[in-house]
Amino acid sequence: MDLRENIKKIRAGLDKAALDAGRDPASVTLLAATKTQTSDTIRAAIAAGITVCGENRVQELTAHLEDNAYEGAAIHFIGHLQTNKVKYVVGKVDLIHSVSSEKLLRAIAAQAVKVGVTQDILLEINLAGEESKSGFPPDEALPAARLSAELDGVCLRGLMCIPPAAEKVGDNLPYFQKLSQLAVDITREMMDNSIDMDVLSMGMSGDWPDAVAAGSTCIRVGSALFGPRPPMSLRKD
Ligand SMILES: *Cc1c(COP(=O)(O)O)cnc(C)c1O
Repeated sequence: MDLRENIKKIRAGLDKAALDAGRDPASVTLLAATKTQTSDTIRAAIAAGITVCGENRVQELTAHLEDNAYEGAAIHFIGHLQTNKVKYVVGKVDLIHSVSSEKLLRAIAAQAVKVGVTQDILLEINLAGEESKSGFPPDEALPAARLSAELDGVCLRGLMCIPPAAEKVGDNLPYFQKLSQLAVDITREMMDNSIDMDVLSMGMSGDWPDAVAAGSTCIRVGSALFGPRPPMSLRKD
C-alpha cells in the first residue's frame, strides 16, 4: 500500500469529478475513514496530506486521541453512536456526521451544554429506508433540523447518508441527488433560523464520483486509501 500514491490518485479523480460537475474542486474534502487503522497509519496518512480523519468507533477514537494520532488533522465521528457514549465524543471531535435519532440529538446537545461547547453536527438520513441502517427517514429530516436549531449546544452544519452498496457507477446517483435536494429544501424552509448547512457528507470508496456529481462536499474514503479491511469476524470490537 502506497498511501501517498492512493491519495494522489483519489484527489486527482476527485478534482476531475468536481470540474466535470462545474464545481470548485476545493469545495470537496477527502475524509479518511480510519476504522481498524493503527495510530501510526493515521499519522502516515496525515503526513501524506490527509486533513480530516473520520472515526467509526468510540473505542478507536479514544485510543487514537490518547496517542495524539490526529495531530495536524480535523477529527470527525462518522459511525453509529449510542446515547450512553456521547461523553466520549462531544467536544472531542470537530464534527459528528451520524446524528441518527432525536434521542441521540438531545443527548449530544445536553452533553455539549454540560461541557460548555457547541458541537457541530450533521443529520444522518436513511434514504432507502433500510432496516439495517440508522438515520432519520427523509420526512423526519425537517423536524429534526428544526429541533437542532432550537437546542443549545449543537450547530447543524448539514446532512449525511450511507446509501446501499453500489454495484456500478450511477446506481447511487438518485440517492445523492435526493440528499442534495433535501438540504436545499430544509434551508429554504428554515430561512428564519438563518441556519448554514454547508456540508453534504456523501460518497465512499465505491460510489464517490456519483456523490461529487450530486454536490457532495465530503467524501468518506476507507478501503480505496488504506486497502481492504479485515472482515468483521476477525475484528476485536
Ligand atoms: C467505513 C466507512 C466509510 C468508508 O468506507 P469504504 O467503503 O472503505 O470507503 C465511509 N463512511 C462510513 C460511515 C464508514 O463506516
